[in-house]
Amino acid sequence: MDWDPATPRVVCCGVSNKGAAIYNGKLFRTTLDAFVVALDMKTGKEVWKEKFAEWKEGYSSTGAPLIANGVLITGMSGAEYGVRGFLDGWDPDTGNKLWRRYTVPGPGEIGFETWPADTDAYRHGGGSTWITGSYDPGLDLVYWGTGNAAPWNPSLRSGDSLYTAGVVAIRPKTGELVWHYQWTPNDMYDYDGVNENVLADIKVDSQMRKVLMHADRNGFLYVLDRIDGKVIAAHPFEKMNWAERIDIASGRPVLTELSKRLIAGEEVEMWPGTRGGKNWAPMAFNPKKGLVYFSSLHRARVVKFVPLGEYKPGQRFVGAETKVPEVPPEEPWGYYMAVDPLTGETKWKVALSDFAFWAGMLATDGGLVFTGRQTGEFIAIDEANGEILWQFQTGSGINSSPITYTFKGRQYVTVLSGLGGLSAVAGTPVRQFVPSGGSVWTFVLLPE
Ligand code: CA
Repeated sequence: MDWDPATPRVVCCGVSNKGAAIYNGKLFRTTLDAFVVALDMKTGKEVWKEKFAEWKEGYSSTGAPLIANGVLITGMSGAEYGVRGFLDGWDPDTGNKLWRRYTVPGPGEIGFETWPADTDAYRHGGGSTWITGSYDPGLDLVYWGTGNAAPWNPSLRSGDSLYTAGVVAIRPKTGELVWHYQWTPNDMYDYDGVNENVLADIKVDSQMRKVLMHADRNGFLYVLDRIDGKVIAAHPFEKMNWAERIDIASGRPVLTELSKRLIAGEEVEMWPGTRGGKNWAPMAFNPKKGLVYFSSLHRARVVKFVPLGEYKPGQRFVGAETKVPEVPPEEPWGYYMAVDPLTGETKWKVALSDFAFWAGMLATDGGLVFTGRQTGEFIAIDEANGEILWQFQTGSGINSSPITYTFKGRQYVTVLSGLGGLSAVAGTPVRQFVPSGGSVWTFVLLPE
């Protein structure tokens, strides 16, 4: 069986899709031209297909949908094109839309006071939702990250620009907003806060707490109480010059002079750069060790704000010029590292001297951390020190996330191999010698 999404045009960042959701015999996915589709898992036939936005206005979707409390939830992309972000809730059986929760509030809604009252800036305010959220069935809350405020140049915006560059906690049945937290208030750095929020119950000051952990593009690793969104800890994991620290009492970043210099029209070197101190590839958590494992990106971006010009639907709308600064050859692309999320202490880190990692991490109970390299090697890392214990060449680059499962008493690890997305279009040097491709690899973990 096959099914062709028949996408008319690619809006941003290459042909990319981060996965599907499955539920009650159906497979759900989104498309680059802004549809949500349900397929019959046995026959591959389309059961329903609903348009959620107009792709010609810059709306698209690449993320995997989420099923929570019987509701299908989908996100969208496009904050570089002046979109207004949202999440949609659907009836998975029929495709009826149950609700829409905008991540940028409109007139009369709570949070609109963080936008200019007398303009339509909120209609182009960004806050896209292009990475799948996490669901806590016990609390019946879905946690979903929100992307950069738009345009990057904040001359049309004022205030914090809620709920962009943060996380929202919503009820899956209704889309009701229960709480929010903003990683980067009044974001002007393209610090999409969409990436994964890891849910765990951990001991904080000898008390078990329900937490949400998140390593943001802005360079901070956060631990929030996921019942109410209050900050428990926030520590930098990468070089940064936009903020000094997070004030735990207020939950707000203590800013440096960088934002003022940007707004004044100065060309500045910004750390982390627009790709962030960590991007979307998910981190792993080992509850026994109390450590998170992830790959950082160690790159600045030179940014200068320029006049915005007129908003034109479907056209890039950022009001900024950027370039990658000269980097000494010995400077690493990033690190893969193990960090204590509560103290911010780095237990170990390994420099990435050839290419950055764009693959997710997976921690197993047996003390391994699996991830992949853009050059195709699927690797197993010793969780104790970061040493590579095993590797296998998959034939193309890996920028997906491994999974593990047991079947008939044996544990398996599976990963997808095949370069795509931003690395396929952004002139990434690895593309010069790594072939594209699409394959799935499964390995069995044998006892010693
Ligand atoms: Ca962005």
